[in-house]
Amino acid sequence: MTRESLITRDGGTCVWCGGAPWPADLTAEHLLPRSRRGRTVPENLAVACRACNKRRRTKPVVAYVRAQRQDGYEPRVDLLQGALARLSRSVSPAHAEYAQRQLALLDRL
Ligand SMILES: [Zn+2]
Repeated sequence: MTRESLITRDGGTCVWCGGAPWPADLTAEHLLPRSRRGRTVPENLAVACRACNKRRRTKPVVAYVRAQRQDGYEPRVDLLQGALARLSRSVSPAHAEYAQRQLALLDRL
């Protein structure tokens, strides 16, 4: 999936800070980071701005939501829930289990 098709699918809003920068400043964020064996498949991708993508590093979704709130940002939980719901239906058990766990944790924040 190209970055352009991801933006077409999800819109141009960063899931972390809610910003809508120029498309050139948007990246394909891995919900389950590649370093945690997340793959580059459509259901594991969400739109994030470059600054957030870099700042998040390999934090799990909910850990980064908490960090963002501590820094005074309000992450787009609605977008994250939609993205995690999509990932929870992945054919990959690792992806699906991660998404289900993050969704449950997100509910309890
Ligand atoms: Zn952002």
